[in-house]
Amino acid sequence: MTFAPQPAIYRPETPILSLGDSFYDAVAPATFPQTRLRFRNDRWAETVGLDGLSDAQWIAHFGRFEPLPGNLEQPLALRYHGHQFRVYNPELGDGRGFLFAQMRDGRDRLMDLGTKGSGQTPWSRFGDGRLTLKGGMREILATEMLEALGVETSKTFSLIETGEALERGDEPSPTRSSVLVRLSHGHIRIGTFQRLAHLKDAEGMKRLVAYTLKHYFGTEAGEDAAAQLLAKVVEKTAVLAPSFIGAGFVHGVLNTDNINVSGESFDYGPWRFTPFYDPAFTAAYFDHQGLYAFGRQAEAVHWDVVQLAVALRLIARAEELVPALEHFAAYYEESLLAALLRRLGVKSRGAVADKAMTGALERALMENSVEIDRFFFDWRGGQLRSETAAARYDSPAFDDLKGALASYGPAVRLDHDYWRDEAPCSMHIDEVEAIWARIDQADDWTALERKVAAIRRMGDAMGGGV
Ligand code: AMP
Ligand code: MG
Repeated sequence: MTFAPQPAIYRPETPILSLGDSFYDAVAPATFPQTRLRFRNDRWAETVGLDGLSDAQWIAHFGRFEPLPGNLEQPLALRYHGHQFRVYNPELGDGRGFLFAQMRDGRDRLMDLGTKGSGQTPWSRFGDGRLTLKGGMREILATEMLEALGVETSKTFSLIETGEALERGDEPSPTRSSVLVRLSHGHIRIGTFQRLAHLKDAEGMKRLVAYTLKHYFGTEAGEDAAAQLLAKVVEKTAVLAPSFIGAGFVHGVLNTDNINVSGESFDYGPWRFTPFYDPAFTAAYFDHQGLYAFGRQAEAVHWDVVQLAVALRLIARAEELVPALEHFAAYYEESLLAALLRRLGVKSRGAVADKAMTGALERALMENSVEIDRFFFDWRGGQLRSETAAARYDSPAFDDLKGALASYGPAVRLDHDYWRDEAPCSMHIDEVEAIWARIDQADDWTALERKVAAIRRMGDAMGGGV
C-alpha cells in the first residue's frame, strides 16, 4: 500500500551520525561546470517542507550541495558490501553518491536525501563518480511510474544537468552528465549488514540492528534484536517482488546492496517494464542467466534476505533466525494476491477464491496475446469496459478468467477521465528511448514533462493512496 504525499514543515534530524564514523566517509561533492535544473519534485518536496525553495536555492542545495539548515555539515559516502549476481564484493559502498541530508516527513518517517552522480568517493574504484543524463531521466520515469502503480519506491527528488561529457563503454559516448537526488526511507541495505559480518564487527552489527529497528521499524532492540529485525525485513521485502509483478516491472539488478531493508524499492539502472506477462523477460543486457528476470524476482529478493540472515549470524544463533525466514513465502503469497487485486481494482472474496482467480489471470496473461497494461485497463473493476475491448478476449485462454471474475465486484471508482482514454499509460522501452531522443537531439524536455503529467494522472485515476 502506498500513501499520498503528506505536507509537512522541514524537520532535520541526523541520527546517522550516532552510528559513528566507521559507517561512512565524509566526502566533498564534485564541482560541476554547469548546473541546469531539469526536474524538481515539488509534489514530494512538500512532504519534507522543501517545496518553498526558489530554483536558485534548490540548485545551491541539490546541484552544489550546500548543506541544508541544521543538517549534515558534510555529505557522507556510506560504506557497504554486497553480493552482485551472487558473487560477494567487499569493494562496494557509495561510489558515485552520498547521503546529503536526513529529515522527518509528513508521516513522521525518517527520510534520506541521497545522491547519484555527485562525484568520486573512496568507494569509486575505477568509476568517474558520475551519472549520465539519460540514466537520471530513466530514474525519473521509473520512480514516477512505479509510484502511480502503487509500488513503494524511492522518489526522484531532483535532477540537475551538470555540463560534463562522460565516456561510457555501453552507450554512445560522450554522453551528457547529471546529478540526481533521491528521497527515500533510508539507505540501509542488506549489504550494509553484510559488510559488518565480513569485518566480524559484532559491536557495529548490534548498533546497526538497534538503529534500524528504532528508526525504520519504530521499536527498541530487545534481547533477540537480530531476530526482531529479520522478521521486520522479511515482512517488508516479501511485498517488493509481488508489487513489481502487479506493475509489470523488472528492476534488473536485485543485488543485496540494492535492497533497502525498509522494503522500499530503489536504485534504478537497467530497469524495464515488460510488455507481456513473460516470466523470462530480462531487463539488464548483462544478466545473461536471467537471474533477475520478471518471474524470478521473488526468488532473488528471498535469496537476498537469506544473506541478511547469514550476516546476522554474527550476533545470533541460526535457530533464532530461521523462524522469521520461514514467513517469507506466506507473506509473498498474500502480497501477490493483494497486488493483483489492487491492479485489477476488485474486492477480495477470500484467499481461496482470490487464489483461483489470480491463477486464471496469470495463465491467461501468459498467453502473451494482450499487453499487461492493456489487460488491466480493459478489466479495471473486474468488468470489461466495452464491446471493442471484448474482441481482445475472445480466445478460450480467457474463459477461466472470465468465469472467475464474474463474481468479483469493483473496489474502486471508475469515474476518472483516464478510464475513457483510448489506451492505457504504459512505459515501454521504445517510448523511453523516444523521450530521450527528444532531449538528446533537440534539448526538448516537453516529451518528458508530458509523460510525467500523464503518469501522475494515471496515478490519480488508480486512486493514488487508496
Ligand atoms: P549499482 O549497480 O548502481 O548499484 O552500483 C554498484 C556499485 O558501483 C556501487 O558501489 C556504485 O557506487 C558503483 N558505481 C557505479 N557506477 C559508478 C561510477 N560511474 N563511478 C563510481 N562508482 C560507480
Ligand atoms: Mg546500487
